Amino acid sequence: MTNSKIINVYTHSDCLKHEMEKNHPESPARLAACKKALQADPSISGRLQWKNAPKATKAQLARVHDKSYISRTFALSPQEGIIKKAVDAKMNPHTLSSALHAAGAQIAAVEDVMKGKTKRAFCLVRPPGHHASQDSAAGFSFFNNVAVGATHALEAFNLKRIAVIDFDVHHGDGTEKIFYNDPRVFFWSSFQHPHYPHVTKLDGHPPHINLAPMKKGTGSREFRHLVETQLIPSLMAFKPECIFISAGFDAHKDDELSSINLNEEDYAFVTKAICKVADKFAQGRVISTLEGGYNVKMLAASVKSHVKALDPKFQHSLTDIISAQTRKFKTLLLSLPISMLAIAIRTLPVAAQLSRFILAAWPSTLVLNVCMMLFPLELMRKMREQFKTRQHENYCLKTDNDIKKLTQSQLEAFEIGNKAANSYSAHLGSFFSWPAYRAPKAFYAGIAASESKNNVLISRVMARLLKNR
Ligand SMILES: [Zn+2]
Repeated sequence: MTNSKIINVYTHSDCLKHEMEKNHPESPARLAACKKALQADPSISGRLQWKNAPKATKAQLARVHDKSYISRTFALSPQEGIIKKAVDAKMNPHTLSSALHAAGAQIAAVEDVMKGKTKRAFCLVRPPGHHASQDSAAGFSFFNNVAVGATHALEAFNLKRIAVIDFDVHHGDGTEKIFYNDPRVFFWSSFQHPHYPHVTKLDGHPPHINLAPMKKGTGSREFRHLVETQLIPSLMAFKPECIFISAGFDAHKDDELSSINLNEEDYAFVTKAICKVADKFAQGRVISTLEGGYNVKMLAASVKSHVKALDPKFQHSLTDIISAQTRKFKTLLLSLPISMLAIAIRTLPVAAQLSRFILAAWPSTLVLNVCMMLFPLELMRKMREQFKTRQHENYCLKTDNDIKKLTQSQLEAFEIGNKAANSYSAHLGSFFSWPAYRAPKAFYAGIAASESKNNVLISRVMARLLKNR
C-alpha cells in the first residue's frame, strides 16, 4: 500500500563507509547523526518510509557524465588505502559503491515520485554531488546526484520542465555547468560570495540559470527576502513539473565552512515555500538530496527541520491564516461601539467635565481609552508581522487564472489592501472599509503583495480592475 502523505527516505549503509581522510569534515558521522535525529523525533519518525538506495547504472550516469569520466572513476577505485581523484575528492575502497548508491537513490526517488507512490522524497546520502560536472570530480563530489535524478525524470518520464533549487552555501557549479544549455531545467543557487568554488560570472546567464550570491554575514532576513522576491516568483513563472532540492546545510550560523548565518527555521521556511509551488504546479513532487553541512549537530537539527517541512502535515494554508485574521477583525468590530461611546461621552460639555473628574479619580478609564485606541494599532502590527514571515502566501493569487477568478469586490479589496500597506494611517482607515470586510482574503493579499514588493502581481490585478471600471 502506498500513502502520498509519507516521505520516502533513501539511504544505504555503504554511504557510511566512504571516507577521504581521518577527521575530514565530510564524514560518515554526518549521515549517522541525521538518521538518528529523524528516527528519534516522534513527530516525524512515523511519517518516514525508509528505503534502501540502489546503485545507479553506468547508463544512468552517462546521461550526465562523460563515458570516459565514468570509466576512469571506476578504474581508479582502490582495493585498499586512499587515492586522490581531485584536490578535494579522494577515494577509499568504498567510495565508488557509496557514490553509486548516492546517485541511485535519485533514480529510486524519481521512480517512486513519478509513479505516484509518494509525493516527497529525501535522499540521505553521501558523498554530495553538486560540484561534480560532466568530466570532473570536485568539492567532495564524484557523481552529480541531483543531475542524475533530474535527467532520469526528463528522459524516463518525458517531463518538460524540472527545477533544481540549491541552497547549499557553496555555488552548485557542477549542476549549473551540466544544465547550462538545457532550458528544460530551471536552476537556482544561493551561495556565499566570494567563496569556494569562486564563481566569477554572476550576470548574463540564460534565464533558466538563476544565481543568488550572498555576502559574508548574510542572515535569516536577507535569505528569506531572496527566497520571497527571487526564488518563488521565478519558480512560479517557470511552472516546474517536478522540483529537486540540493539541500546543503552549511549556510548554518554554526557551520565552520562558511560565514552565513542561517538557522534551522530558515531551512523549514524555504522548504515550505518550495513545497507550495510544487503543490500548485508539480502535483506535490519534491525530491530533496543532502549536499553539504559540516557541523554534525546542527546538520542533524537542520535536516530534521527540512524533512519535517516537506511533510504536507506541517504546511500552512492561506485559508488558515485568513480565517484567523477575519476572527480578529470581527473582534475588533465588536470593540468599536464601546470605544465610540467612550469618545462620545468625552465630547459632551457636561460629560467632559465629568469625565475629567472621573479620569482623575479613576485611572482605569484612561487606561481603557488608551487601550481602545491602541488595540487596532497593535492588531495591525501583529498582522504585518505574520505576513512578513508568510509573505509567500500571497502567491496563491499569482496565476492569471487566480486573478481572472477575482470578483469586483475582491479586486477593490486587493487595491485597498495594497494602498493600505503603503501608509500607517491608510492601514487604519481602509481597515474599516466595506470591501476589506467583504473580501478579507483579497484585502490581506493586497497588503502582503505590497509588503513583499510583488509589483508584477499588483500590476496584474490592477490592470484587471482598471479594465472593469
Ligand atoms: Zn557546501
